[in-house]
Amino acid sequence: MRQRSITLGAHVSAAGGVQNAPGNARAIGAGAFALFTRNQRRWHSPGYTTETIALFRQALSDQGFAPESVLPHAGYLINLGSPDEEVREKSIRGLADELERTIQLGLGLLNFHPGTSKGQMDEAATCRRIADGIDQVLQAVEDTRRAPARLVLENTAGQGSNMGATFSQLAQIIEASAFPERLAVCVDTCHAFAAGFDIRNAAGWDALMADLEQTLGLERLAGLHLNDSLGALGSKKDRHQPIGEGEIGLEGFRAIMQDQRLDGLPLILETPDPDGWAREIELLLEMARN
Ligand SMILES: [Zn+2]
Ligand SMILES: [Zn+2]
Repeated sequence: MRQRSITLGAHVSAAGGVQNAPGNARAIGAGAFALFTRNQRRWHSPGYTTETIALFRQALSDQGFAPESVLPHAGYLINLGSPDEEVREKSIRGLADELERTIQLGLGLLNFHPGTSKGQMDEAATCRRIADGIDQVLQAVEDTRRAPARLVLENTAGQGSNMGATFSQLAQIIEASAFPERLAVCVDTCHAFAAGFDIRNAAGWDALMADLEQTLGLERLAGLHLNDSLGALGSKKDRHQPIGEGEIGLEGFRAIMQDQRLDGLPLILETPDPDGWAREIELLLEMARN
């Protein structure tokens, strides 16, 4: 049997500085992690010092994490689809700043929520507006590395007319961008379930993956957020639960953990109890084994 490489972790705290995140991830037995590159609830944060950047890179290597197993998450205020020009401008500048930070840290992925026009534009126009925002971000930030950083569109629960509840919406955004090769997607299991993907068993998970393969291509998948769901199937509620304690349940997560197509991708818990992460990681790794 082929040796599997499962990179599983959680969205850990970067309190006190991003350089603390790798150690926080190692402490829970993680092989991957997510972090906020800056305060996720403010528009402005001071830039990194050269010392912070050096400390992060050192900590990453000391704790044995490959840069590919880190999936930073952009701030919650960012909305590239906003009908408010000022908010949209701030969003473009904010995401560009976060992409710059991602590159400074030596990382290659930056996950963000596509956005919403709050019902003021139709789906196609909203997707084009988001794609235009993405293009402005990518044009504003230089990345001369052989493999430049990719922006990762996260699927959504579809709450509040947020784009990204279906893979076809994510595909519309990617197709409308001038830089499709710089774009990837992340599947959040709670969001998918709340958006109507019934992933409570292996057949349901395979159906989601088949949709993803057909609509976006499996090579677009850059990571997963593993969360159980408080809300029911199709409820459009973005409320995360610990693994096995929500509406998706253990059978669904077993199917995910046994899916070898996910090997090597960062699999990130965003479940509500940080004290439970070490146990959840163990539970999920156990499911991958049998
Ligand atoms: Zn998210
Ligand atoms: Zn998520």
